[in-house]
Amino acid sequence: MSNFPWHYFVRSIRARIILIIITAVLTFVISISYEEYIFPKILIVIFFLTIVSIIQGYLKSLPFKKVLEKLHSLQHILPHDKKINLLYQKNELILIKEMLRITEKYIQEQSSEIKTNKIQATTLMESIPGPIVWVDSYLNIVQYNKHFDHLFPNEQQTKIWKTFESMPEILQLFESAKELDQPQTIRGQKIKFNYFDITVTPIYNVDKKRTGFLAVFYNVSEAKLTEKMRVDFVANVSHEIRTPLTAIKGFSQLLTAPDSNCPEEVQAPLKRIIFNSEKLEDLFNNLLKLSVIESQYEIKAEQINSLQLFKSIESTLKGKYKNKAINISYQVEQNIFADKKLIEHALTNLIDNSVKYSQSDTASIEISVLDFSGLTEIKISDFGPGIDPKDLDRIFERFYRVQNNPQANKIDGSGLGLSIVKHIINKHKGKITVESEVGKGTRFTILLPNY
Ligand code: ADP
Repeated sequence: MSNFPWHYFVRSIRARIILIIITAVLTFVISISYEEYIFPKILIVIFFLTIVSIIQGYLKSLPFKKVLEKLHSLQHILPHDKKINLLYQKNELILIKEMLRITEKYIQEQSSEIKTNKIQATTLMESIPGPIVWVDSYLNIVQYNKHFDHLFPNEQQTKIWKTFESMPEILQLFESAKELDQPQTIRGQKIKFNYFDITVTPIYNVDKKRTGFLAVFYNVSEAKLTEKMRVDFVANVSHEIRTPLTAIKGFSQLLTAPDSNCPEEVQAPLKRIIFNSEKLEDLFNNLLKLSVIESQYEIKAEQINSLQLFKSIESTLKGKYKNKAINISYQVEQNIFADKKLIEHALTNLIDNSVKYSQSDTASIEISVLDFSGLTEIKISDFGPGIDPKDLDRIFERFYRVQNNPQANKIDGSGLGLSIVKHIINKHKGKITVESEVGKGTRFTILLPNY
């Protein structure tokens, strides 16, 4: 369809042209009665006046043309079933009227749909059993439910920095979601007397433009309390068992002392008692450690000098394994960003295993700490007995020990060491993998994020 308002144009010049022609005919008739032949002159005047009328009509139609162009673009926006057939509309005024009527109806439908959506969104927000807040892309609060209002009452909520003034961790969560443009979560955030896992998710419009964020608060106080009870229980049981165990071990050691006057035949059973109480002690220590790590919500990560850390582990292990030579070579190019106590525990377990399971008098170990595409990659390789492929997938399970290796069976252990290591690495949002070849050695690779 042409955007030029032909109908309006013709109508606006039609009357004038008819008038011009009538005037011309009259002038002609009068001129004949005066016997003066001026027909060519009249024709020139008619022609001139007609041109002027056409130009004037055209200029008058120009604003109308713009209106029609707008109408045309409006036609594109309207949904298919709402479009009017522009082809068959001859009169532009009727066309405009019709278009205005359809647009008005469409806007009314849209506004009632928006209202319905808003009611549905509000019902949805209110029906969620935890606090929820929706903020715009400038982090101004747009909407929140009654649970949120209950958690942060008093003021009319408008700005998140004011609402979370005393909780920089939550503000930081919004900032990271904004910066990384991805959902972000913090766990176990204490608010008043409760603990919450909080997730902030970016929201987008149909053009995939970010329009705001939705923060959902999951109350995990009960889970945290159960977890605490579990840790307390394990801690109490371990403590209660360790005390008599220490006594059993201590008295047995006393009886095995050279000046104890204890008969020779009970020396062997006493040594077994000492050995087994040490084993039990080790088991309870590991169980306690695992339980504490599992329940720990957040880690306290810091920059750690890798070489210093490994040297300190090396000297501890040299003290522990006095009858073995420990030979460690290092390639350390990077610090480790982690919770010092936890990562030290994990790395000690791994190196301890390398020494413990090495079958020769010298345990040779290679350690590297390198950058791996922005992550920290720690490799601990030994040249010990290796692990059978069928056991490799299971060694991180609790209490799993390789059974069919007669050499390894003789070595003391609870099967909890690698399980603790895996938990520690998971807590750091890292990854641990193992490669091994029987008779050649084992290599553990840890990938840790740098933040
Ligand atoms: P454990 O207390 O038995 O050492 P771990 O969880 O530390 O428990 O290890 C599980 C099993 O994996 C061990 O029983 C051992 O057979 C095997 N293993 C772990 N590290 C090594 C290693 N460096 N070389 C050979 N075998 C290993």
